[in-house]
Amino acid sequence: MQKKIILSKDQVAEIVQANKYQVDDKSSFISRCIDGRYPTSSSLTRLRGAGPENDNLPPLALAGADLGELALIKAAGNTYGFEVDLKKTYQVLVELLGGIDNFQMHTDGHGDPTIAAAGCGHLKQMKLDPGAYHLTDEDILTLSEIAEDAKKKGATEVKLEGDHIEGAVLQVTGNYSVKTRYFLENNNGTREVEVFVFHETFVSKRHKELAKRLIEKKAVILVNGLDAEYLSEMLSEATEDHLMETAKRLAKGLPIYLATFAEDGGFDLTEMGTV
Ligand SMILES: [Zn+2]
Repeated sequence: MQKKIILSKDQVAEIVQANKYQVDDKSSFISRCIDGRYPTSSSLTRLRGAGPENDNLPPLALAGADLGELALIKAAGNTYGFEVDLKKTYQVLVELLGGIDNFQMHTDGHGDPTIAAAGCGHLKQMKLDPGAYHLTDEDILTLSEIAEDAKKKGATEVKLEGDHIEGAVLQVTGNYSVKTRYFLENNNGTREVEVFVFHETFVSKRHKELAKRLIEKKAVILVNGLDAEYLSEMLSEATEDHLMETAKRLAKGLPIYLATFAEDGGFDLTEMGTV
């Protein structure tokens, strides 16, 4: 069992500097989970449509990857009182991604291989306590059906290996993303470290596009003249809510840092307190 190191600001700055990568428009909608165990090389992932030169992880990091996306859309509906058809929402998302093989989820070495995305801690917490995520038991059932359907039809289910040793939560803005694993050198030798990553810019950019399409395809029904802009804002609220709910459960006490990238890849790192 590897031991977790709580990461200082200097250590996170070193990780961000070493692990940052630029993201092109084409791949910026491809997601991964906030999980810190994603491999440093993407040999284990299938980032389709991104070109062979791009050996990087899917850049849009959010809790639960695309299953987490569907869950938060439904939760937004339950919270703010609008109708969400989860199965239609799934279709709209797949269409936006350009096909089911770009639909991302993950499991791990401990997860039941017969259950899609069984190793995702975020989805596990949601199943244990749907109410805390503003979901019903029926919503959870539908999400599980969608996960199985996606897996059967060729969605990407990455199998993450190793222990959870995330030592910080990293929120990212700008057109760069950050890989989650790194080897820190100190006087005692080399230690592997991990960070949870959440990508605010790509998540909200995708929500803007999704909101328009969800309304157009009647996967979400808004009343009282509310529009796509409203929907996209509510989705971002629900994203934050789900992220913090899982962080409280899986990342309690960890420091939160915000990396704000400039166009040239330079970045500012800000301490945002602890979970
Ligand atoms: Zn996960």
